[in-house]
Amino acid sequence: MARKILVTSALPYANGSIHLGHLVEYIQTDIWVRFQKMQGHTVHYVCADDTHGTPIMLRAEKEGITPEALIANVHKEHSADFKEFLVEFDNYYSTNAPENKELSQTIYRKLKANGKIATKTIEQFYDPVKNMFLPDRFIKGECPKCHAKDQYGDNCEVCGATYNPTELINAYSAVSGAAPVRKETEHYFFKLSECEAFLKDWTRSEAIKGKPTLQGEAANKMGEWFENGLNDWDISRDAPYFGFEIPDAPGKYFYVWLDAPIGYMASFKKLCETQGLDFDEYWSKDSETELYHFIGKDILYFHALFWPATLEFSGHRKPTQIFAHGFLTVNGEKMSKSRGTFITARSYLDYIKNPEYLRYYYAAKLNSTMEDIDLNLEDFVARVNSDLVGKYVNIASRTANILNKYFEGRLYELDINTGFYALGLVNVEEDIKQAYEQRDYGKAVRLIMGYADEINQYVQTKQPWVLAKDFESNKSELHQICTNALLGFYNLSILIKPILPALVENVEHLFSTPDLQWCDLGTKPMTPVRAKSIKEFEHLMTRVDPKLIEAMTDANKENLAATAQVSAPAKTKAGPAAILPEAEYISIDDFTKVDLRIATIVNAEHVEGAEKLLKLTLDIGEETDGQSTTRQVFAGIKSTYNPTTLIGRNTVMVANLAPRKMKFGMSEGMVLAASDERGGPFILTPDVGAQAGMRVK
Ligand SMILES: [Zn+2]
Repeated sequence: MARKILVTSALPYANGSIHLGHLVEYIQTDIWVRFQKMQGHTVHYVCADDTHGTPIMLRAEKEGITPEALIANVHKEHSADFKEFLVEFDNYYSTNAPENKELSQTIYRKLKANGKIATKTIEQFYDPVKNMFLPDRFIKGECPKCHAKDQYGDNCEVCGATYNPTELINAYSAVSGAAPVRKETEHYFFKLSECEAFLKDWTRSEAIKGKPTLQGEAANKMGEWFENGLNDWDISRDAPYFGFEIPDAPGKYFYVWLDAPIGYMASFKKLCETQGLDFDEYWSKDSETELYHFIGKDILYFHALFWPATLEFSGHRKPTQIFAHGFLTVNGEKMSKSRGTFITARSYLDYIKNPEYLRYYYAAKLNSTMEDIDLNLEDFVARVNSDLVGKYVNIASRTANILNKYFEGRLYELDINTGFYALGLVNVEEDIKQAYEQRDYGKAVRLIMGYADEINQYVQTKQPWVLAKDFESNKSELHQICTNALLGFYNLSILIKPILPALVENVEHLFSTPDLQWCDLGTKPMTPVRAKSIKEFEHLMTRVDPKLIEAMTDANKENLAATAQVSAPAKTKAGPAAILPEAEYISIDDFTKVDLRIATIVNAEHVEGAEKLLKLTLDIGEETDGQSTTRQVFAGIKSTYNPTTLIGRNTVMVANLAPRKMKFGMSEGMVLAASDERGGPFILTPDVGAQAGMRVK
């Protein structure tokens, strides 16, 4: 029976670019939506930019544009990124929309009429120059633990300590620089504490039998929160604020997290207007449609507590299920700007280009739990190349040209005696379908690739290219083998279509069977299939070049180089310069780019007219045409060394530093030396045994 399903992904904040971490969720949701549509269900997939709040307001001000202009630019950028990653929303909207304003105000009025709104006077940090209340993130100061300067009001990025803004030393407003003051203000609260009984029940419920509202681990997490007791939820912010005004409360605005999830409804409402759908059929209290929210585990609190309570006490339906996923790590670690693994969607598209590599890799890693998933870049290359190119596409590459060359592209007429082509599929189709339904895409991919292995093995055993050498005697067998393999490939394409929609569009073109659906699968030998022939075979997918991965991570490191210098901590007064924080680690690959060599100082002399420099002649064991050659290096070590004492000593030089023309001549490298306020420069001396030319690593 066809189901009516409304699906959402979390709303990305309109304050930054989409990155590979975000894409886990959108790709996860998009695959599920495409799968459901292929089953013949009615599915609507909506999303929007989350556009309100102080960060947006201040960023717009900094850029000298209105918040409306800022969010319009970001909306354009986000929409383009999603489109290129083949994330196919039915509507991608904005929370700063008239539908959302109306819905937010209506819902608020209903909550108020139901006695769920209260006001309380609270004390908050206030910027006396800018005349605005400050969120924690906009208060900065010295870390109370490690004394790093310019740390945020909630945690220190240098030592990782967490604290209250009141604990910061010399706190200041990140907006104006003024010292913040404490100031009283009246705030509006949603009485979440009164919703506890409802929420305890709801978080352990099943809207549809066998489909728990929350994943087990998520329901347990909520249980911990119930134990601590629920606090009322502060839903108001004072002007100036970019958002919607609270009805009958001048100067008070809805906190961004109140109107963000209502943005799901607003985006759908807009879709209803354009497509003539019935909004109430999906949102009324007695709705029989299904509603699913895909979210990251970090926003579970908002979606599993605030959101259902908001819906319940404003007279709406609740979500059927909430699907939370884990975070993305890259190469086993948090995404890092210094390692070049904080990769934006745009940067991936610029370097790797094909979005389906990533869609496939994420699918292979995803399951229905809240576990983090790892993008291992080496494994990414290996997996895409071996599975997609080596197994799946390979089947068509090995057989399509034979069919075209000898049989004008016509598939063999199947009859009961020759039926093979569903090779094993009848057994796994249902499992693959269940795996998709349960968001266990990793399992679906394993089963699909297992089927690809079977078909490849069949082709390998039958060796059609050998049979083709004696075409006349093997004509019928050759025709059947190629047909079987190609129909296997056709089935595989249907199974993998939710993950690789663009590639499969080319397969649809190859077989002249547009818009393949799940019911097009040939699961039994006698099932009629739409495919009757193939067109000329064009290459479907190329291998990922590992060099592109390297170029991409390098490029993302370069972006950081400029900002790293600015944010490096100041030197402490005495003692060594502060060790660079984590954000400035380099990889071993970066380090090995520096060619360090043991150098023997064969000569050292003063340079006429130079205040700091000595001219060194260095032997690093180089030869040209059998003649040993030396390097000339100007080193700023005159203040510490008498040149004659240096002759004959060994030291360490950077051998691959680009030669530099100086006032006194060419400098062909650099010797390493240590210095700070306590003295220097002191050159390095290797241990006994090191010889000129040895590599230092
Ligand atoms: Zn600190």
